[in-house]
Amino acid sequence: MNYKSLGLKVGLEIHQQLDTHKLFCNCPSELTDSDAREFTRLLKPTQSEMGEVDRAAKSEEKRKLRFKYQAPPTVCLVEADEEPPHEVNSEALDTVLEFAAMVKANFVDEVQFMRKIVIDGSNTSGFQRTALVAMNGNMNMGPMEIDGLNKIGITTICLEEDAARRIAKEGAEITYRLDRLGIPLIEIATEPDIRTPKQAKAVAERIGSLLRATKKVKRGIGTVREDLNISISEGARVEIKGVQELNMISIYVQEELERQMRLVEVKNELRKRKVSDTDFTEIKDLTDIFKTTECKVLLDMIKEGGIVIGIKMKGFSGLMGDGLSQRLETNRRGVLGPELAAYLGPLGIGGLFHSEELPGYGITNEEMEKVNESLGVEKTDAFILIAEKEDLVSEAAAIVISRTKQAFLGVPEETRDPLLDGTSKYSRPLAGEARMYPETDVPPIRLDEDKITKIQANLPELPEEREQRFIKSYRVNPQQARQLISAECDLIFEELLKKQESKKMQNIIAKILLNIIPELESEGVDTTQIKKEIIDEVITCVAQGKFAKEGIYDVLKYVVEKKVSIAQAQSDLGLGGIDEDEMNKIIESLVNERADYIKEKGMASIGPLMGILMKELKGRVDGKKVNLALKKKINEICS
Ligand SMILES: [Zn+2]
Repeated sequence: MNYKSLGLKVGLEIHQQLDTHKLFCNCPSELTDSDAREFTRLLKPTQSEMGEVDRAAKSEEKRKLRFKYQAPPTVCLVEADEEPPHEVNSEALDTVLEFAAMVKANFVDEVQFMRKIVIDGSNTSGFQRTALVAMNGNMNMGPMEIDGLNKIGITTICLEEDAARRIAKEGAEITYRLDRLGIPLIEIATEPDIRTPKQAKAVAERIGSLLRATKKVKRGIGTVREDLNISISEGARVEIKGVQELNMISIYVQEELERQMRLVEVKNELRKRKVSDTDFTEIKDLTDIFKTTECKVLLDMIKEGGIVIGIKMKGFSGLMGDGLSQRLETNRRGVLGPELAAYLGPLGIGGLFHSEELPGYGITNEEMEKVNESLGVEKTDAFILIAEKEDLVSEAAAIVISRTKQAFLGVPEETRDPLLDGTSKYSRPLAGEARMYPETDVPPIRLDEDKITKIQANLPELPEEREQRFIKSYRVNPQQARQLISAECDLIFEELLKKQESKKMQNIIAKILLNIIPELESEGVDTTQIKKEIIDEVITCVAQGKFAKEGIYDVLKYVVEKKVSIAQAQSDLGLGGIDEDEMNKIIESLVNERADYIKEKGMASIGPLMGILMKELKGRVDGKKVNLALKKKINEICS
């Protein structure tokens, strides 16, 4: 696919939770399932200073939602919006300054928190507090350079508070939990410099690795969320909000660009067919046709007193379902039909069918004929059926018609939710600009020069520099170096190695951190009990020859499961190290026993004999030592 000729442009907005307490109070930044007190609130769209009600706010108001909040004991009155925010968490601010300095951004003189209107209920106050900290940065892509992208502009870097966690939605009531509300987030927005789906993923990875280099960001599912702003030159800016899976980023970009291509094709086709955007508004009550239908969705609605309306789509033949999209790489979702259905989603209307998916869902050919006749649908036309309660049906028809009119213009600007399969679903119109006003409860913070100088002088090592230093100073291999850093085991690795007298333990330490502990974890062993002190003692034992490195796995497992000391584990497991004399005796007796076999096979007998020996000696003596001694004996016999 030629992304350049399509004019693909992508910008990212990354939200990463910081590993410190809440932004405006001292509550822990931790999620909890413990019992919680509950309270309910209604939210109304707030007017901004400009006097206009935000476009997204209006759309949200249509849903007439009620919000229930769960406040677990780990939150205070600040999260409940019953008390004003406290002083800004300075550790959080310092982390944001640090990242900003790493990408050479320009700091603001004064950090002023603003209120960003939020109407989905995810903030008890009705707004999110956010502050611009730096702008106009330039991030070097380092080893993640891809498809010619070696640096990318960083537009803004903000410090903001995370929203409450959505727990449930029942009818018009949404339940939020306040444990996530107020966790400090760094928000990083890039310039729309990204030109291919792969670049989008690489930029997200690079930002992630620089953030981890600060050692002050949270890890794990849900701690980082990405918004993708995607457009093609004939399309429009669409924001896919809240992507959590880094590996899916390039797929979302690819799918969205293909969706925009399909909508552009629809636009061009309508133009070619000379279809007018005022022509198709034929709406009729078709309830009589479906009084005895086998389509459950329609029949249920009729039984509940609802009606079925039909809308003629003049000139839309072939544009509703998969039609034109056949030519594109992905072809699962059709063109306009699913878009129309998604626009009705926020109203809770599910009963929409378009002519290209019929006959089907219990709707027969005969019923279709009647619909065609009643609406005057010809071969070049399509139609839509909507089943709904009478009071909602005209609103639904108006939404379908307004969305269809947008098809003549191509791609509407909108916010979409990512779906698991890599596609996305309409959620609301793109938020307008008029949605910020100053937060008067939080005094502005001046960024004095001393502070900035200090931060700039103490910047963390870049991940690639750290990698090189590990290879050079600690003599680990490049793969180990990279793994230690990306798994964030680098700090504990350095600490453990520094404690050892012999600096040759680096491979064993790396192996414990990168292989043995993850392996134990996948076996269901509670590895959180393997504290730094335990690892240190195990390594010391191995260094002193008390037991061999082959025994580390069993010892650690035993120590956790039986809650005993390492010495006890070693003795219970029979891992008492043996001295060289004893080892040589065991080897000698085996070699004598198998002398004929050795004479026949020569050096090829090493493998099988090692197998036998290690069964007996595993964990008690280093495999390498056994191997050397065995080779020596075999040599003696053969020569
Ligand atoms: Zn609190």
